[in-house]
Amino acid sequence: MNCLFCRIASGELPAKLVHEDDYLVAFHDINPQAPVHVLIVPRRHIATLNEVSADDDELVGAMLRRAAVIARNLGIAERGYRTVFNCNREAGQTVFHLHLHVLGGRPMHWPPG
Ligand code: AMP
Ligand code: ZN
Repeated sequence: MNCLFCRIASGELPAKLVHEDDYLVAFHDINPQAPVHVLIVPRRHIATLNEVSADDDELVGAMLRRAAVIARNLGIAERGYRTVFNCNREAGQTVFHLHLHVLGGRPMHWPPG
């Protein structure tokens, strides 16, 4: 298994976890782009958003709802935060295992660039 996030999800590689359950792990990004920068990752390997199917609706819903819980727990829910799926090269995806970024703790710009 040479996928970085599969290795983190299985516990083979360390990460600063903020949540884990049967389907998801969430951990602090190693190179944070905001005071809060957490990644929410399904344990099952899915390369990009393009590979998500209708069978995954519950999983993706759980990722988004988990983002809101983590934002609340880390104190940024009311101020505001951003959730991002980067899909493929032009969006800046560098790890090809689906992940949801949760960013907050500073004002976010729009358009995101
Ligand atoms: P993306 O560019 O959307 O594919 O996001 C990948 C993210 O993974 C980047 O924000 C990286 O900083 C982050 N990242 C890479 N390696 C690790 C790691 N070992 N632990 C935590 N986050 C990581
Ligand atoms: Zn993977």
